Amino acid sequence: MAPIFIFIILHWYVSLFFQSFFYHRYAAHNLCSMSRGWEKFFHLCSFVTHGTSYMSTGSYGIMHRLHHAHTDEEDDPHSPHYSPNALTLMWKTRNSYQDVVQGRIPIEEKYTKDIPAWPALDRIAHNWISRVVWALIYVGIFVWLSTEWWHFLFLPLTIASAAFQGLVVNWWAHKFGYENYKMTNTSKNIIPVDLFFAGEAYHNNHHKHPGRANNAVRWFEIDPTYQIMRVMNFLHIIRLKKMTAVD
Ligand SMILES: [Zn+2]
Ligand SMILES: [Zn+2]
Repeated sequence: MAPIFIFIILHWYVSLFFQSFFYHRYAAHNLCSMSRGWEKFFHLCSFVTHGTSYMSTGSYGIMHRLHHAHTDEEDDPHSPHYSPNALTLMWKTRNSYQDVVQGRIPIEEKYTKDIPAWPALDRIAHNWISRVVWALIYVGIFVWLSTEWWHFLFLPLTIASAAFQGLVVNWWAHKFGYENYKMTNTSKNIIPVDLFFAGEAYHNNHHKHPGRANNAVRWFEIDPTYQIMRVMNFLHIIRLKKMTAVD
């Protein structure tokens, strides 16, 4: 395998893990707790792995909670049922994100409660200088490791990794896949064995049980992010929230 593909694949999975574990399950849903030191460490890891597509944990958490509260409704920040295609959904999501980041829309306290934030890091990471520097770093890695011109076709995937990962769930997981639960929303599990999206593909399960750290429910479903969280829980890096019957 060409070295650039080892980098692309590693970057995809590591950045996806931090989006799934740190942004989604910890920041938005508070499904585990951790010390301030570990929180800062994982926040830094998210910055380093997301690079160009770094998002504020606060704004991500608010948008995601709004998605759960208004799934498939007009107030859903990224419903595919109000966007004609994946690109327009991506653009709408970007605008919703900017509305939250810039404080252009009023947000109720329940949507901001207990979301970890690091404003100092946001100021460094969340500006165009940082994004350009990261883009140049990725271009440099591609120049270094690529052996064919078409390898550069994968550069946008690396530069906008977090946006693509969000799009997969926001678009496909509300359009295509199978359902374990009949819901009043359109959430689907994209694939039975989630080897590509770190357990985020079990979106129908997640909408049914947003209080569970484990998105897998059937015998053949495996949630890689949850398995890593179990190891971190065993090592006392995090403390998994106890699940209840209604989770
Ligand atoms: Zn959803
Ligand atoms: Zn969620």
